[in-house]
Amino acid sequence: MKIIDLLKLKYHNFRLRHTKTIEQEYILLLKYGYIEKDCSPIKCTKCGSTNLEDMHEEYGGYNIPDGVLCEFDEVCTDCGNVCGHWAYGGWNL
Ligand SMILES: [Zn+2]
Repeated sequence: MKIIDLLKLKYHNFRLRHTKTIEQEYILLLKYGYIEKDCSPIKCTKCGSTNLEDMHEEYGGYNIPDGVLCEFDEVCTDCGNVCGHWAYGGWNL
């Protein structure tokens, strides 16, 4: 990673740590390019990697048919950080 990218990452993490509301966090994540408007992750907030993969899938359940995807995590394959969680049709921060 280039030094300028590392400095940006540290600055972003500093700003994100000091947000007081989920709305402020959302605005910063969107502004810095970590998420799309629907909260789907674009890159890892810990290491800046864009190597993200769907993991920890859960299928079916109480009143959901077998084989229907209900939930999964979007995980950074470079550092293991869970960058987002999708459940029942939407992303959570
Ligand atoms: Zn990462």
